[in-house]
Amino acid sequence: MTLEKAKNNLLAIKTNIKDTCEKVNIKNDIKLIGVSKYSTYEDIKILYEIGQKDFGENKVQDLKHKIEKLSNLRDIKWHFIGRLQKNKINNLLDLNPTLIHSIDSFELAYEVNKKLVNKNKTQDCLLQINSSYEDSKAGITPEETIETYKKILNVCKNINLLGIMTIGTHSDNIDEIEKSFLTTKNLFNELKQYGAKHCSMGMSSDYELAIKHGSTMVRVGSKLFK
Ligand SMILES: *Cc1c(COP(=O)(O)O)cnc(C)c1O
Repeated sequence: MTLEKAKNNLLAIKTNIKDTCEKVNIKNDIKLIGVSKYSTYEDIKILYEIGQKDFGENKVQDLKHKIEKLSNLRDIKWHFIGRLQKNKINNLLDLNPTLIHSIDSFELAYEVNKKLVNKNKTQDCLLQINSSYEDSKAGITPEETIETYKKILNVCKNINLLGIMTIGTHSDNIDEIEKSFLTTKNLFNELKQYGAKHCSMGMSSDYELAIKHGSTMVRVGSKLFK
């Protein structure tokens, strides 16, 4: 990716975010996470240098390599957004990610918490909701979300649970995608009384729609790194 291309991509997305916020009359404090899972170190560095600081990876091993390789980029922030296997929890926690978006069951939260207690540290996390009810997707069903969220808050004291994450329905039908975002929005609103601050929702193909439905963090890969 050339510098020119990176600037254009970043500006286009930021402008879309800004315009969407204005259209639906909400404050633009949406965080853009550049999903770098298919990109090179060089492209991440180019985007970092023009002001993009938050990046997301979906594999622990890839995250480790990228953190090591780009350790000279001082205030870069790394998010973990992928499925977390139990045998990778220690490795992930040792990388001190800014935020783990993908706690997808109480059992996983419990294991993560156990490791955190051993390490005598805390970790910011989100609970992943399977708002589309797709078998291929991880996450808590919407029906179980509130109860699970409260249980993690009560039991897993070394996890700072800061909100929820979802992946919109995989469909060309806007109504289907919107339905999954509405489901998530309602849960997020209900969870605000338990301290939920972040709703991580929206990717390259649907981030504007996600913002309309209350997303506070969008995870954009292909449209940023194209
Ligand atoms: C890959 C990925 C994204 C980004 O997807 P794009 O369509 O490339 O923007 C966002 N969230 C998760 C969980 C991902 O795995």
